[in-house]
Amino acid sequence: MSAVVVWAEISEGKFKKPTLEALTAGRKWADSLGSPLQAILIGAEIPESLVQAAGEYGADKVVRVQHASLSPFINSVYARALAAYVKAQKISYVLLPQTYDGKAVAPMLAVWADGALFSGITQVPEKTEDGWRARRIAYSNKGIEWVFSSHLPLIATLKPNSLVPEKSSRSCQVEDFSFTPQEADKRARPIGVEKVATDSIPLTEAEIVVSGGRGLKGPENWHVIEELAKVLNAATACSKPVADVGWRPHHEHVGQTGIQISPNLYIAVGISGAIQHLAGVAASKNIVVINNDPEAPFFKVADYGIVGDALEVVPRLTEAVRRYKEQHTH
Ligand SMILES: Cc1cc2nc3c(=O)[nH]c(=O)nc-3n(C[C@H](O)[C@H](O)[C@H](O)COP(=O)(O)OP(=O)(O)OC[C@H]3O[C@@H](n4cnc5c(N)ncnc54)[C@H](O)[C@@H]3O)c2cc1C
Repeated sequence: MSAVVVWAEISEGKFKKPTLEALTAGRKWADSLGSPLQAILIGAEIPESLVQAAGEYGADKVVRVQHASLSPFINSVYARALAAYVKAQKISYVLLPQTYDGKAVAPMLAVWADGALFSGITQVPEKTEDGWRARRIAYSNKGIEWVFSSHLPLIATLKPNSLVPEKSSRSCQVEDFSFTPQEADKRARPIGVEKVATDSIPLTEAEIVVSGGRGLKGPENWHVIEELAKVLNAATACSKPVADVGWRPHHEHVGQTGIQISPNLYIAVGISGAIQHLAGVAASKNIVVINNDPEAPFFKVADYGIVGDALEVVPRLTEAVRRYKEQHTH
């Protein structure tokens, strides 16, 4: 039985949460097959600490693909490296985190490894009589879709926040796989990176998101959103009109035409709950709505609602969380 292989994406020298989630899901998938789990790490230099971390999150074997020209990340080069490994080892099951880079690598990998692709699944694939099926969110969060394939290798990307990372320590072998990137795969390459948000939590990875809409009245009031986000260790987001008028940067805009997220907790402040907004956030596991209009449509999909003025409610909520944390961290 083929091993399950997880691409353990290294991001700024670390494994971010989506990679730990993919390793956890990979472990479960491998257990369901009675197969080993392999973590494949690609980079110019792979830190020993990450090799150990992959073992702590369930890998029976870590495969290192190291080459000086594997940094910076180029999607086609990484896809080529993974495809080479999948073909050489006759691997049948591959899982990648559905991060920006995972989304860029997986389709090329599927083509080059002659595989089938399940993109953005939210649970470990299930064996059926004649193949595999998996669940994913569809139609802008308005439905759940089951995808099926009987083709191997099966390549899948796991949507962030689909499960909680779990440690599952085991003794882990380490192996090197030799791969030399080809110039032909570097047709488009990054030539510089300009960071726009240095210490903020990426929206797609955040467990908690505090989001503001036009009800905030103006950018001068955004500190209430930021202060609540800070005490909750949350990312901040906004509705489309807020980004359109320049109160907030466009990379914070969530919804049908913005980023689609599925955090454990989404706190919507002064947002009406238009269908196009819900399309990006309805997959959140818990939704809290703060709005001064009790008829606001967002309340219909809320798990908890507070009717009140955002500028009064949010600072009080921030203070309450702060006090709670102080009392419970000693
Ligand atoms: C093709 C298309 C695509 C779109 N894509 C998106 C998208 O991706 N994302 C998106 O967000 N929108 C999108 N929209 C826009 C969407 O239809 C709504 O217009 C938008 O979401 C409304 O933003 P809002 O809720 O911030 O503002 P509003 O609709 O103006 O709502 C403001 C809310 O704040 C409340 N409020 C006012 N004052 C206070 C206060 N003091 N305290 C508390 N609450 C208060 C009001 O009761 C109201 O519910 C799209 C529209 C179209 C046509």
